[in-house]
Amino acid sequence: MSRFRFVLELFRESARIGHAPLPPEAFEAALECLEFEAVRKGRLPPELGRRAHWSAAPVWDSALGEPFVAAVELELLGATAGPGPSADRAPLGGCRLCTHTFQLFAQDAVHALVRAGRLGAEERVVYRLVAYAVAPGEEAARPRAAAAPTFRTVPQPLPLEPSRLDALLADAEVCGPPHDDEMPLLLWPHVLEEAAVRTAAAGGVETGGILVGRLHRDPRGPEILAEVTAQIPARHARAGSKHLEFTPETWTDVAQALALRGAGELMLGWWHSHPARTWCGDCEPARRLACPLARGFFSAADRRLHQTVFPRAYSVALVLGDRVRNDLTWERYHDVYGWSRGDLQPRGYHLKHAPKGGNHAP
Ligand SMILES: [Zn+2]
Repeated sequence: MSRFRFVLELFRESARIGHAPLPPEAFEAALECLEFEAVRKGRLPPELGRRAHWSAAPVWDSALGEPFVAAVELELLGATAGPGPSADRAPLGGCRLCTHTFQLFAQDAVHALVRAGRLGAEERVVYRLVAYAVAPGEEAARPRAAAAPTFRTVPQPLPLEPSRLDALLADAEVCGPPHDDEMPLLLWPHVLEEAAVRTAAAGGVETGGILVGRLHRDPRGPEILAEVTAQIPARHARAGSKHLEFTPETWTDVAQALALRGAGELMLGWWHSHPARTWCGDCEPARRLACPLARGFFSAADRRLHQTVFPRAYSVALVLGDRVRNDLTWERYHDVYGWSRGDLQPRGYHLKHAPKGGNHAP
């Protein structure tokens, strides 16, 4: 769907050591975000499911010039009655992607070079994105490379529950970094409490679970709100001090738990812990201030898991752990991450106040 072919060029020091075409999936997360935004703005009906038309155009690097790309302008386009040119399609939204959005694809290309024995595992590699115009007709001759992945053509109506969004948010506290125009996310405090208890119980080992809940839409407006109603511990996850892997048994377990709850909830994301106190226990205290592990973060492995398992634009991730304060003492924290224009960023949320007089779960 692009008049350009995007390629990742890999360099060791200043020597070019390999290249890899950027697959159409590289735009998938951003397109998913644009499409969800169009549904939230009422520009696309949720029943329509997946869009089929988009365009990606390079913004040339001002210093290096063509073919070096500084960013990619992505545009989501509406459908036309016939197979008309994209100029006839109404734009539904767009965004500018900086090249670090394609970091995971560059890592894949680097791993391929390491596997082929052309690069040492520890060698430092930098990547640049380049783009070449595709001649008319060439695109038709290579439909597989140019077309969006086929799974996008399967319509997936969003399961939206009609609710008053102002009533849901009425007594909720606004938390986390605010972002312009992000989908409102509502968390129940018992979800954070249960995750914190499990994090403390797991000691120096990572632990985690699945966040489940509902998507709401106000009958009076197009905005969508995600409500996390519960967490289901990943009882069969494989965990170590610095990794967590959801096994196939985890998904079976979660599907059974959702069926037992019988509330029509869907998987909205996941949570996991970063036991930094254990990681940094042997380090000299003064070094902790400069150590990225002693701060809140979303690792490359976390990004890959989220991208693979939670690609939906409304999917969120909660991270709990310890981080070091400026006075070198530790504090507990929890951060929420979510998709923002194809990238994973810390995001804000609304914390529901627990009703007085008892343990209430929605
Ligand atoms: Zn992590």
